[in-house]
Amino acid sequence: MPRPQLIVFDLDDTLIAAYGARAQAWASFIPRYADRLGGRRPADVAAAIDDAAGKFWADHGNLHRHRFDMTAARRSIVGAAFATLRFDDHDLPEEIAEAFSRDREAAYRLHEDAQPTLDRLRSAGFRLAILTNGGTRSQRAKLERFDLARRVDHIQIEEEVGVGKPDRQAFDKMLRASGCQAAGAWMVGDRLDWDVRGSQSAGMVGVWYNPANEPAAAGFRPDLVIGRLAHLIDRLV
Ligand SMILES: [Mg+2]
Repeated sequence: MPRPQLIVFDLDDTLIAAYGARAQAWASFIPRYADRLGGRRPADVAAAIDDAAGKFWADHGNLHRHRFDMTAARRSIVGAAFATLRFDDHDLPEEIAEAFSRDREAAYRLHEDAQPTLDRLRSAGFRLAILTNGGTRSQRAKLERFDLARRVDHIQIEEEVGVGKPDRQAFDKMLRASGCQAAGAWMVGDRLDWDVRGSQSAGMVGVWYNPANEPAAAGFRPDLVIGRLAHLIDRLV
């Protein structure tokens, strides 16, 4: 594997912890509404919401329409869960979606080796970029909050360029903007479909960030697997 000129990082659940553990998040959140669920058990409501979320995001149309506005997506998801539970409350889905989104945002945290890894790689001469799907407002806010923007040479956000991972054009566009050939670029991310296979399809090296040490799903062949971001330093510096 050639030494990279450019190392591209995914943001959510790679540099920062953002959306992982959805089922647990709903399970610990919903009990605060226990007395407003029409007698339903909070655990059942939380499970129905998580189930509705899985179905919602598996639908490509939903993914394209709603991923720039998570709160609106969650309003639809909670509404769908309520419908399956035959629970008719007009206002509660919106209230829950907004409060859950605020909680989730407050719970974002930076992986402890993210900044040191970026800084070490950059001082060793690698060019760095962040390639993230999602909306401008939410992604820029995370980059500022965790002091990441100034640590990389280039940032590409799906909403700002009109194309996202795993679309090959997203990678091609970023490579052009970075002035780098695909063969000299690594993409590091937590999603096998978007980050690893997407980048490989553009000719890049696909590095799977896999902190839970899960087996790769069938059909995916990451070029390299790392359990911690700092493993890039061990490998490259
Ligand atoms: Mg990610």
